[in-house]
Amino acid sequence: MKLRICMGAVLLAGAAAANAEANASANAAAAQAAAQPGPGSTIASAAPAGRGFDIAITVDDLSAHGSLPPGMNWPAIAKSYLATLKAHRVPEAYGFVNALRLKDAPGSEPVLDIWRQAGYPLGNHTYSHLGLSQAPSLQAWEDNVKQGEPPIQARMAGADWRVLRYPFLDAGNGAAGDPGRHDAAQAWLKGRGYRIADVSVSFDDWAYTETYARCLAKNDTAAIDAMKRDYFTRVDAAIARMKALSQAVYGRQIPEVLLTHMGAWSAATLPEVMARLDAAGAHYVTLAQAQLDAAYREGGPQAANGTLPERAATEKHVDTSGLPQVPQVGQLDAMCR
Ligand SMILES: [Zn+2]
Repeated sequence: MKLRICMGAVLLAGAAAANAEANASANAAAAQAAAQPGPGSTIASAAPAGRGFDIAITVDDLSAHGSLPPGMNWPAIAKSYLATLKAHRVPEAYGFVNALRLKDAPGSEPVLDIWRQAGYPLGNHTYSHLGLSQAPSLQAWEDNVKQGEPPIQARMAGADWRVLRYPFLDAGNGAAGDPGRHDAAQAWLKGRGYRIADVSVSFDDWAYTETYARCLAKNDTAAIDAMKRDYFTRVDAAIARMKALSQAVYGRQIPEVLLTHMGAWSAATLPEVMARLDAAGAHYVTLAQAQLDAAYREGGPQAANGTLPERAATEKHVDTSGLPQVPQVGQLDAMCR
């Protein structure tokens, strides 16, 4: 269940100076706004002036992301995940379901009920994690979306379950020979009552999943410690880039939407990830609250493809070359073989 984000980088020199100027005034305005809490403020948002941010947490690939490490079970992983989110007062975390996993990941089906019992909603991630561009046809992809609905609908009576997260954040723009697929899929989803769960930031947690399972099987704690150092360094860099990118593209801090995955690595590292988000000024909100922001309603020919601010930077020809970079994921494939 890998997430691949393929973004064409279009960097135009010359925009940097104008952006820096716009950012300076926006930063001043943001600092002023933060110093005078509005009616929506809570204690949890009491971050250093100008540095706080709203963020919605979302979790993909329920009921089971990747391989199950030896000695673990899916319900326990889900409970660990939820305990961490609740400890950080996360008001809502959509869990996006690949219903095929209820069959091919034995023992994982209770995860959906555990998620609901925690008061968190479920949404659709297609039946078999089918990328829209890779689907043999738009019809085949639509059928896959529909096939994923029953187990979600059954657990979401009276609640809003028509929320879709595109697998691989692939909104169809890469469909060879089918340039209309993106727009057609967007229209079909809207007609079926769906809204799209966009993503603004991710820490590539999925990339560590299989290596973690192998290293646990070998009881290689040194390798796991090295993976965690690599990962948390990248988390910090991604948070720094997230903030800088928001300022560069929008001249302000937009509400963020974080993509994580329902797997053993993600659950094990989530406490440290949440601590780092807290330290960076996170204030947890719902997906709907985050997506109320104008940044999430811009639409366009690439809507929902890849991550929002990186996509917007490309479309708006914003020079991101001077922003904090996130290091590449380390050499995980060779570890614990
Ligand atoms: Zn996924």
